[in-house]
Amino acid sequence: MSEHHHADGFDHHHDNHFTAMEARVKALETVLTEKGLIDPAAIDAIVETYETKVGPRNGARVVAKAWVDPDFAEWLKRDATAAIESLGFTGRQGEHMRAVFNTPDTHNLVVCTLCSCYPWAVLGLPPVWYKAPPYRSRAVIDPRGVLAEFGIDLPAEKRIRVWDSTAELRYLVVPERPHGTEGISEEKLADLVTRDSMIGTGLALSPEAAR
Ligand code: FE
Repeated sequence: MSEHHHADGFDHHHDNHFTAMEARVKALETVLTEKGLIDPAAIDAIVETYETKVGPRNGARVVAKAWVDPDFAEWLKRDATAAIESLGFTGRQGEHMRAVFNTPDTHNLVVCTLCSCYPWAVLGLPPVWYKAPPYRSRAVIDPRGVLAEFGIDLPAEKRIRVWDSTAELRYLVVPERPHGTEGISEEKLADLVTRDSMIGTGLALSPEAAR
């Protein structure tokens, strides 16, 4: 796994325990690397792709549809699992979903304080920092400070709601639709929806920033 370093001053420690499956994967990776059968850099590139591109594109399509289709947004609010499944995104770690909508008054932030529960079906693999103890503890204690380290400075009057994921219920943040995006196609809107904006550690991009 590659180390991710944010330019945010976080010290990203890894948990030093592996699950049985992670230990087996590590062992297999080591053997295959030693035999010259795989290139760890290639594996890192694949993981990076799933962390930042393939997975989150699913969630971005959900968000873009909610932005343009009020009926879908209503459904997503009421029964996120079914609404998301209607777009073909389902499966392990995404069986029970709840969508939380950012509004002018409220910003939503998702964490798993216990471990690393994450909506794989819509976001792919969790980023390393999401699993790291500093994020997991501080997101609850000091969400505004955490957001500032991600470069998000919210107005003081904006409320921040922190949602603690569990194995039973996982959250997708629906960021606010950026200004100046009227008349932009659903597909192009999806390009504005970053992974972090669906965790709540980011905002959707402006069309200018996406270019
Ligand atoms: Fe967890």
